Amino acid sequence: MNKADSERMAGILEAMGYCEASSELEADLVLYNTCTIRDNAEQKVYSYLGRQAKRKHLNPAIKLVVAGCVAQQEGEALLRRVPEIDLVMGPQHTNRLENLLFQVESGQQVVATDHQHIVEDITAARRDSSICAWVNVIYGCNERCTYCVVPSVRGKEQSRTPTAIKQEIETLAALGFREITLLGQNIDAYGRDLPGITPEGRRQNTLTDLLDFIHNVKGIERIRFATSHPRYFTERLIDACADLPKVCEHFHIPFQSGDNSVLKSMARGYTIERYLRIIQQIRKRMPDASISADVIVAFPGETQAQFRKTLSVIKDVGFDQVNTAAYSPRPNTPAATWSEQHPEEVKVSRLQEINKLVQETSHLRNKRYLGRLEEILAEDVNPKNPNQLLGRTRTNRLTFFDCQGPSGFIYKPGDLALVNIETVRSFSLSGTAVK
Ligand code: SF4
Repeated sequence: MNKADSERMAGILEAMGYCEASSELEADLVLYNTCTIRDNAEQKVYSYLGRQAKRKHLNPAIKLVVAGCVAQQEGEALLRRVPEIDLVMGPQHTNRLENLLFQVESGQQVVATDHQHIVEDITAARRDSSICAWVNVIYGCNERCTYCVVPSVRGKEQSRTPTAIKQEIETLAALGFREITLLGQNIDAYGRDLPGITPEGRRQNTLTDLLDFIHNVKGIERIRFATSHPRYFTERLIDACADLPKVCEHFHIPFQSGDNSVLKSMARGYTIERYLRIIQQIRKRMPDASISADVIVAFPGETQAQFRKTLSVIKDVGFDQVNTAAYSPRPNTPAATWSEQHPEEVKVSRLQEINKLVQETSHLRNKRYLGRLEEILAEDVNPKNPNQLLGRTRTNRLTFFDCQGPSGFIYKPGDLALVNIETVRSFSLSGTAVK
């Protein structure tokens, strides 16, 4: 989500005439788009800001902007800590960057952190890839997971209309993009705030309806979505993913803990049995689907036995990928105030143990690709080997492949290449393209 916001702000700056400086210590305007999901990401921002504040003393014309979730969380307090900052802007103000910079240019120090309705953006994002694009479909989150700072910094759910989303995707297709990933903090909540009930009494404008609605955009070959919430994940969505050919067989569904009482104190609203049933249903319809997840270890009060249940789920499910994190107390969240916080050694040791297991299971899972012919959407030249292209399988596995013919590459970025997989590693594959 932050990456998508960064691309949008870079697009606004380019439209205003800014171009990229060779380094952040050369720039006339420095914008940090910040993340507050874990404490160490937040601390990094303060060290970057310290360096920029020194530069600003030597050259007061430099503009210093802090955007994103740290900006939203800290607001005015950021100015007290680093008075050299010109603009503090929360994520709901991303699309307003140009206006806010005009205010800065008129000599004001601006704090834009009030919650507001996100207006449709008319500027084009400066996307890092020319093949794969993020498309925001819902902003904010109405859940109240007890560890999570997102609802307080990104505000209430706001869905974009299906028509606005489809228009953006059509524009992307016309520009040559081939893959889109629909984004939401809790993408299954898409449309809850939009009107519409079917004659059968079912809510319209769900994620499933959206997938149906955008599926026919010509030029787009692949559609993905993230992040799913096990509480709201439906069988109807699984059926749509199985039936709509452009929707890729890759599901990112965080489970966070393998223990029901930990899930309850996290206020996640599902049991691990429900989670496992969802995985079963997905695999019944799409046996080769890849499944990835997020997990938190050393949550306040998590016992060794509860931690072991999380390890068991990882072993039993056979995830393709799991993003792991040790619990990090965040401001204004209930879990941060609980007394049963784990010391750093417990966090580090549980994290190390789970990471080792994740690496083993990912490697094991990747072995199924060996000797297979996979469809790879070529994205770019491998920066480490100019004779190779890189891309991803439908299941989202990063793949490097040789594809030299007598007169250069036989495929180019944007093509769907057929690749014979010859090497598997824990987090990537390699092979040779066939024509
Ligand atoms: S659903 Fe996700 S973003 Fe929303 S509160 Fe829970 S963890 Fe945070």
